Amino acid sequence: MLRSTQVLRNLNKSRFNFVRFASTKEHDVVVIGGGPGGYVAAIKAAQLGLDTACVEKRGKLGGTCLNVGCIPSKALLNNTHLYHQIKHDSEHRGIEIAGDVSVNITKLQEAKEKAVNGLTSGIEMLFKKNKVTYYKGEGSFIDENNIKVKPIDGAEEFDIKAKDIIVATGSEATPFPGIEIDEERIVTSTGALSLKELPKRLAIIGGGIIGLEMASVYARLGSEVTIIEFQNAIGAGMDAEVAKTSQKILGKQGLKFKLGTKVTKGVREGDIVKVGVENVKSGETEELEADVLLVAIGRRPYTDGLNFEAVGLEKDNKGRLVIDSEYRTNKQNIRVIGDVTFGAMLAHKAEEEGIAAAEYIKKGHGHVNYGNIPSVMYTHPEVAWVGSNEQQLKEQGIKYKVGKYPFIANSRAKTNLDTEGFVKILADAETQRVLGVHIIGPNAGEMIAEGGLALEYGASTEDIARTCHAHPTLSEAFKEAALGTFDKTINF
Ligand code: FAD
Ligand code: NAD
Repeated sequence: MLRSTQVLRNLNKSRFNFVRFASTKEHDVVVIGGGPGGYVAAIKAAQLGLDTACVEKRGKLGGTCLNVGCIPSKALLNNTHLYHQIKHDSEHRGIEIAGDVSVNITKLQEAKEKAVNGLTSGIEMLFKKNKVTYYKGEGSFIDENNIKVKPIDGAEEFDIKAKDIIVATGSEATPFPGIEIDEERIVTSTGALSLKELPKRLAIIGGGIIGLEMASVYARLGSEVTIIEFQNAIGAGMDAEVAKTSQKILGKQGLKFKLGTKVTKGVREGDIVKVGVENVKSGETEELEADVLLVAIGRRPYTDGLNFEAVGLEKDNKGRLVIDSEYRTNKQNIRVIGDVTFGAMLAHKAEEEGIAAAEYIKKGHGHVNYGNIPSVMYTHPEVAWVGSNEQQLKEQGIKYKVGKYPFIANSRAKTNLDTEGFVKILADAETQRVLGVHIIGPNAGEMIAEGGLALEYGASTEDIARTCHAHPTLSEAFKEAALGTFDKTINF
C-alpha cells in the first residue's frame, strides 16, 4: 500500500513497526490517540484483519490513564496505603517495627514511574505483536480521509490516508476560571502525581474521585488536607448513603471537608497559595493558606491541534464530539470514542467503545452496555458501584428492595481487621432482578465485577444467594447482601 511517489525515509521499518520518518501510507483504519480507547481500538481493528495505524503525540502509549491518570495514581495509593498500614496499623496485629518508618518521596515516585514505563512500553510490544503501525506525532485532519502527522522528534510532516478514522483524543483537566495552574504550587492531577516535596498543607478544589484519591495519598503521608466542594456531598454522583459513609471514614483518617462551599480565589504568593472560600448558604467567607492547591473539578474533552473543523465535525455545548449510536460523526467514516465524546470518563468505558468501534467498521455491529459500567474509587476502604443507585430508582419510580450487609459481620474482614463499610444490593421488588450494586469496603473494586456479571446476565438476587461463595472471603458479604433482599441474612 506504500505510495511510491511520496516515499521519503522510513528508518528501522524492518525491526520496528514504529515509523520515524515520513512515507505516505494508506491504511484501512487510522486511530488518533493512543490512550485506553485508541490503543484498544487499534489492536482490535488489526486483529480483525484491518491494516491499522495509531497516531499518538505524547511519546508514550497508554494516554492519560497509563501516564498521568489511573496507573500512577494507583501506584501512589497502593504504596502510601502500605506505608500508612506499617506505621499505624501493625502493632495490634503483633508486628513490631524496630526502627523508624519513613517515606522517601523520590523513591516513591521512582516506583510509580517503573509501573508506568513497564505498562506503556508493554503496549508498544502489543502493537508490534498485532502489526499496528505506530506514528509518534500529532495527527490533524486534512480532510475526511487524510491526516497530517507532525512527528514529535521534529522530523518533516507527512500525510497518511485512511478509509476509516477513529478519534480517541481524550480529555484534559477543566480549568478553574481565574486560577492559574503552574503545576508546582497550583496543580492539576498531573502535578499532584509528581510533587517533589510533601506539602504540609494541601487544599483541594473538588470532592470528586480525583480529589478524594489524591487527598488519601497525601493525608497518609502526613499532609493536612482540606477538600473544598461546591455540592453538599462528596463522591460526584455516588449513592448518597455510600458517599456519606465514605466521608465519615475519610474524615476519621484526617481529611477535612468544606462542603457547600465555593472558591472565590486561588493565588500563589511565593511558596504559599491563598485560597478564598465562601459558604454557599451563609455567605460566610474565609481565606485558607496552603502549600499546594489541587484543582480537581472535572475533565473536559480534548481536541487541540486536531483540526476537526476541517471536516466539519460537530461539538455539543460541553465540547464533546457528537456521535450516533455507532460512534459515527456526521462524516460516516469518522468515529469517536472515549473521553472526547459522551459518557463516563473512565478507561474501561473507553476500551469497550474501542472494541465496539472496530467491530462496527469490520462487521457492521458492536455493543457496549452503558447500564453496566462500573465505577471504583481507590481510597481505603474502596468504593465501587454499578447499575442504578437509590436516587435514580426513586426518580424513575421503580419499586426496589435493599439488601445490605456490613463487613463487620464478615469473617474474612474481621480476620483481616478491616471491617469498615458494607455491600448494598438493590433489586426489583417483584422479580428480585439486580438493578444496582454499591459497595464500600476492602477490595470493593474487585468485588464489583460480580455485580457487573449479575447485571449483564439479568441475574436475580436469589441466583447470587444460591451460588456457593468460598469461605472465608469478603465475597460472602456480597452473597449475604443478595440474600437480604428477599430473605433473612444468616450471619447478621
Ligand atoms: P486518553 O487516555 O486521554 O488518551 C488520549 C490520547 O490522545 C493522549 O495520549 C493524547 O496525547 C492523544 N492525543 C490527543 N490529541 C492528539 C492528536 N491530535 N494527535 C495524536 N495524539 C493525540 N479511569 C478509570 O477507569 N480508572 C481510574 O482509576 C482512573 N484514574 C484516573 C486518575 C486520574 C488522575 C485521571 C486524570 C484520570 C483517571 N481516569 C481513570 C480516567 C481515565 O484516565 C480516562 O477516562 C481515560 O484515559 C480515557 O481514555 P481515552 O483513550 O479516551 O483518552
Ligand atoms: P469529578 O466529576 O469526579 O468531581 C469533580 C467534583 O468537583 C464534583 O464533586 C463537583 O461538584 C466539584 N466541583 C465542580 N466545580 C466546583 C467548584 N467550582 N468548586 C468546588 N467544587 C467543584 O471530577 P474529577 O475528580 O476531576 O475527575 C475527572 C474524571 O476522571 C472523572 O470523570 C472521574 O470519573 C475520572 N477519574 C476516575 C477515577 C477512577 O475511576 N478511580 C479516578 C480519577 C479520575
